Amino acid sequence: MTGPKTHSWIEKLDVYVTGKSKAKSEKPPVKLSANESALGSSPKAIEAYKNVAEDLHRYPDPAYQELRQALAHKHNIDKDRIVCGVGSDEILKLVCRAYLKPDDEALFVAHSFSMYPIAVTSVGGVAIEVKDVDYTANVDNILNAVNEKTKIIFIANPNNPTGTYLPNSEIERLWQNIPDSILLVLDAAYAEFIEEEDYDAGIKLVEKSRNVIMTRTFSKLYGLAALRLGWGYACKEISETLDKIRDPFNVPSSAQIAGKEALNDIEFEKLAFDHNKKWRNWLMSELNTLGLNVIPSQTNFILFEFQDSDKTASAANDFLLRHGYILRYYNSQGLENFLRLTVGTEAENKEVIKLLKEFMEN
Ligand SMILES: *Cc1c(COP(=O)(O)O)cnc(C)c1O
Repeated sequence: MTGPKTHSWIEKLDVYVTGKSKAKSEKPPVKLSANESALGSSPKAIEAYKNVAEDLHRYPDPAYQELRQALAHKHNIDKDRIVCGVGSDEILKLVCRAYLKPDDEALFVAHSFSMYPIAVTSVGGVAIEVKDVDYTANVDNILNAVNEKTKIIFIANPNNPTGTYLPNSEIERLWQNIPDSILLVLDAAYAEFIEEEDYDAGIKLVEKSRNVIMTRTFSKLYGLAALRLGWGYACKEISETLDKIRDPFNVPSSAQIAGKEALNDIEFEKLAFDHNKKWRNWLMSELNTLGLNVIPSQTNFILFEFQDSDKTASAANDFLLRHGYILRYYNSQGLENFLRLTVGTEAENKEVIKLLKEFMEN
């Protein structure tokens, strides 16, 4: 007996590798490997989540009206062109299902989000990796890789795992130079952490285009990763297309209500932003002082490189794990000598630097 056989392109897929959550120490581990919120979630969102318990027998609002209203109000955008998903991951997958058929190509940048090749390959598309420059997406390299098979371009802006970003002028230049038959996906999972004036998450471009979608998430600054809530914003045709193929009840009531409350909790949002900015800058400067090569970050995490052959990222990772600190270690993607550190609480940040200092000096 052989059983059913899946598509050849699905057989080739590897399972997505998530940030580790187990260490090798006695104490409960400190997880700084998945870019989760250092300050937990908005107290208002938690309260609202608890209240949903009374209504667990009801299906959620299939159109998530209140959540869309709140998003539209906050960002001053058209609520009818917002599509919500089970994390922004679902939006990325819907986009592939809607706009890629077997053998179509989708481009993404090297050292970028590892969900893109999975989403592309799962529908039979061909995932094409484009070289970056200084750990940053490069518009000329992307334009050179475009051909008549290209159907989607994914850009994480700011990028994970490098933390770098492209200014709006470069995103505009990219958009100006691609045919409008190509869908440009601007994945702005870390937009809430950025304050650079030359940055735009994608709303401006969406408003004047027919081939751009911006995706956002509640998993990072808003600290609702457990609820799996993300959204996309695009023109009417694209948002209607995604609406047709999503599950009618894809977003649970708990996520809808907590998401809405999180958007209204300006106080928590400011606290999370300020905390991140302060500690990200502190961590970058401390890591620099330790002689590590720090990639400048605009996000809630920092990618840094071990430059001495006797102090490797792999050894540092083992050392930190033994002390209960979990960072993101890559043994692929050409990042073998890097670790990625998520900004933690004050105590966690100080401790991780203390441990790294001990590692570097011994
Ligand atoms: C975390 C992350 C997401 C996905 O977030 P969801 O939890 O699925 O909403 C998307 N893109 C990038 C670049 C990320 O780092």
